[in-house]
Amino acid sequence: MSGLKTDYIDLFQLHNPGSMPDPEDPDGAYQALLDAKREGLVRHIGLTNHRLDLAMKAVTSGLFETVQFPLSSLSSANDLALVAACKELDVGFIAMKAMSGGLITNAASTFAFLRQYGNVVPIWGIQRISELEEFIAFEKNPPEMDQAMTAVIEKDRLELAGAFCRGCGYCMPCPAGIPIPLAARMSFLLRRSPYRGFMTAQWHEQMERIDACQHCGQCIRQCPYSLDTPEILKTMLSDYRAFHAEHAPTC
Ligand code: SF4
Ligand code: SF4
Repeated sequence: MSGLKTDYIDLFQLHNPGSMPDPEDPDGAYQALLDAKREGLVRHIGLTNHRLDLAMKAVTSGLFETVQFPLSSLSSANDLALVAACKELDVGFIAMKAMSGGLITNAASTFAFLRQYGNVVPIWGIQRISELEEFIAFEKNPPEMDQAMTAVIEKDRLELAGAFCRGCGYCMPCPAGIPIPLAARMSFLLRRSPYRGFMTAQWHEQMERIDACQHCGQCIRQCPYSLDTPEILKTMLSDYRAFHAEHAPTC
């Protein structure tokens, strides 16, 4: 551990395995983590996943002390059942993509939403000092769920919930060179974040790659949300072209 400058790791998470690790496999990752725990090198063992069924198995298996799973104010009732199961079984819940990969723009509403669940520790995905300051201010004066917050969340859910790309990147690399995690969210990014960076010649060329999709099916097979990604990309390209024609600088 000298490279890490620590004698032990507080929480070692198995990151997004495709199936539950076999705790009996003497050469498996879980046994290695148990050995590391016995030696005092690791204090707690956790698992991260984007698949609800696998995350639920991890919670009920008794093998993990924490589970990290995407959770935000857009999450469904099924996702929230995982939070309840964690509470009941005393498993820590770490919320990844708490701002849904940048698509949620009202930090106060998602903060207030997640604060209702006392057993959830969110990872906010802060990118700017101003955002960090905003969240520190929320910790001091937590916004509460009221009618205004509920209205913001309902609006976001109407616009975003359902078959939208979370930007996780598990479908990559695309053989056609399409930057799927951004391209498949382009309509939202154009309207929910500064759009000028997407109006460049480079981004235009990258979006046009969607037309060269080889329909290999890899993105569909690897998407934890079972999205029809090529169809989503087609819609995004059509919208991008219209937006670009209207907003791209002409000189
Ligand atoms: S189906 Fe198209 S978008 Fe999906 S991985 Fe294959 S080439 Fe890329
Ligand atoms: S299409 Fe699916 S796998 Fe690819 S980035 Fe979006 S959510 Fe993730």
